Amino acid sequence: MTRNFFIGGNWKMNGSVAEVNKLVELLNNIDVPANTEVVVAPPALYIDRVNQAVKKEIKVAAQNTYIKASGAYTGELSPQMLKDLGVNWVILGHSERREYFKESDELVGQKTRFALDAGVSVIACIGEKLEEREKNITNDVVARQMKAIANEINDWTNVVVAYEPVWAIGTGKVATPDQAQEVHHFLRKWLAENVSAEAAEKTRILYGGSVNGGNCKDLATKPDIDGFLVGGACLKPEFADIVRSRQ
Ligand code: PEP
Repeated sequence: MTRNFFIGGNWKMNGSVAEVNKLVELLNNIDVPANTEVVVAPPALYIDRVNQAVKKEIKVAAQNTYIKASGAYTGELSPQMLKDLGVNWVILGHSERREYFKESDELVGQKTRFALDAGVSVIACIGEKLEEREKNITNDVVARQMKAIANEINDWTNVVVAYEPVWAIGTGKVATPDQAQEVHHFLRKWLAENVSAEAAEKTRILYGGSVNGGNCKDLATKPDIDGFLVGGACLKPEFADIVRSRQ
């Protein structure tokens, strides 16, 4: 198994010019291990600035894109615009987009296809809410979210899946390594049964939800955890420890 480790940093709607400059300095001082990919997602307004200032081992992503290349879609951003700026990644389907902006599974699937067709790689987020976990339907929920993506795409080469239980995002309540591994294992099996053995073997599945410098090493020992999508802690110096958690 030769899946490179992958660390995503989701800055969400945080930052100012001064803070962005500090974060870029922090990123440029991280010694990125050879087997680890790092992709950070600043707010749209700062993407170009970060992309120009960050060292080349670290890539930049948008936090969202739309399903049109251009036109009368006020406030939206297209994957073609990202490509124009040399930005090759986008986070899609984050639970905050699903919850606050009412993005459906279908729209996330369509956005994924549109971004991939434009040549932009996708960090596709899925995950159950607390009440769904309590009802024991976690696997059903993540399978439904995966299916909506699989309905739109055949080739998963440029997709990284981020399993982010909603109850763990921004709450300080991290899934245990066993809880995360259980769902990651289910997702890999789902890929094998519904896409292909190759997709199951090669697709990186990240864990996201209150990952920090203290818990990342334990989570990273699990065989089906191929990295992390990090929110709060990616704005702090401990992001360097997370990037190096598989060492
Ligand atoms: C996220 O927003 O994707 C996330 C995982 O946030 P946090 O690390 O703050 O829980």
